[in-house]
Amino acid sequence: MGVDRFWGESGQPRLLWYCEYCGGGIYEGEEYFEHEGLRICSDCEGRYALAMFEEQAVKKTANTDSVL
Ligand SMILES: [Zn+2]
Repeated sequence: MGVDRFWGESGQPRLLWYCEYCGGGIYEGEEYFEHEGLRICSDCEGRYALAMFEEQAVKKTANTDSVL
């Protein structure tokens, strides 16, 4: 009983950083990604990766002119 009283306080993970993409907290023990110096939380993994892809990829339309 004496130990349980403090569970709420000592059980809180520490907030260490903020995700550079969504601004959400990254807590101690949580997994996150580091890309080009930015910390990205695991929730943003997909969205961030897609945003990076769309920024770097060149969209083209396949047509017969480009066939050698
Ligand atoms: Zn995030």
